[in-house]
Amino acid sequence: MNRRQFVCVAATAAAAARIPVARAAPKYDLIIKGGRVIDAARKLEAIRDVAISQGRIAAIGANINEQAADTLDARGKLVVPGLIDIHTHATRTKEGPALCLADGVTGLIDAGSQGADRIGEAIAVAKSAPQPCRVLINIGRGGILPDGDTMDINRADVAAAREAIASNRDMIIGVKARLSRDVAGTNDFEVLRRAQEVASSFNLPVMIHMGQTVSPLPKLFALLKSGDIVTHMFAPPPNGISDDAGHILPEVMSARRRGVRFDVGNGRTGHLRWDIVERVLQAGFLPDTFSTDWTTESRTAQVIDLPNVMSKFLMMGMPLNQVVACATLNASRAFPVFGDRGTLKVGAPADVAVLELRDGSFDFVDNYENKRMGHQRLFPSATVLAGKRVASRV
Ligand SMILES: [Zn+2]
Repeated sequence: MNRRQFVCVAATAAAAARIPVARAAPKYDLIIKGGRVIDAARKLEAIRDVAISQGRIAAIGANINEQAADTLDARGKLVVPGLIDIHTHATRTKEGPALCLADGVTGLIDAGSQGADRIGEAIAVAKSAPQPCRVLINIGRGGILPDGDTMDINRADVAAAREAIASNRDMIIGVKARLSRDVAGTNDFEVLRRAQEVASSFNLPVMIHMGQTVSPLPKLFALLKSGDIVTHMFAPPPNGISDDAGHILPEVMSARRRGVRFDVGNGRTGHLRWDIVERVLQAGFLPDTFSTDWTTESRTAQVIDLPNVMSKFLMMGMPLNQVVACATLNASRAFPVFGDRGTLKVGAPADVAVLELRDGSFDFVDNYENKRMGHQRLFPSATVLAGKRVASRV
């Protein structure tokens, strides 16, 4: 054996010797350890480890001890499916979706910021969003306008909206009709009729922005079909969902029975007042989904983030698991694009929000400067998107 052969044999032997002790690749990419998992889809609320592999939930168990490339300590925190916000205006700024992501929002919808004329701008931001982001097209072709989206009824242009949807079927997943007096004036009914005309061509839902309309609510609700969404459900009169005595209108009850969904749409003006929230919840009419009506301005006023909106309903007495369900499972059911999300079951996309439920005294402000004090508030702590940790809120 010459020297070269010897080196070669020695190297092979060494390599062979190393094989048994070579470190196997970790079984999981990430384990979220020891958090209180709330998964409404499986009626699970317990301390669990959540293991993630290749962007999917790989296992959930009381104690997962296999190796993972990364571990997130969630002891003392809530581990819930990534939050889904079905009414935001996040595409108005390029950084909007990423800001929401840091709040735990791993799926979001821009609800009507743009109409047919400039829908391309909203779609461009939605496509560049880190998380799944889709848009509802405003039936008003100019989008949200300071002088009212459809005050001029010609702006509710059926042909233009249809053309926009036909060219962007993957990104436009519904039609938004804003119906308040200062948005649609006396056109509200006709605006909604046209929105339905557009939506029916593509079998899409319509989201209406209710409250302070010219037309009475029953007249408008007659146009709603199963799968449509009513946002700003706690809007004060005129034309709220309950009468002066606090009874939910029969047309509202029958809309819910036929599959119309009711959404919070927190926002900052005219959409939410504590006495109305209290009255409607006391009547047993709970929201299906929470949404923020998010804008960059609302990050510091009233809305803050989706976990903060959720906290308002803890204050109002909704149980934690129901509050989580509204922001996860229920929201995932509102639009097929999110149909495989809103749960942490094995095989689901590994979108996870880790939230901290802090005790203390917290002021919550409605859209009319009324304050109420709650004793718990949810804060975003960490977000996992497609199995990877993302930057926390700054
Ligand atoms: Zn809005």
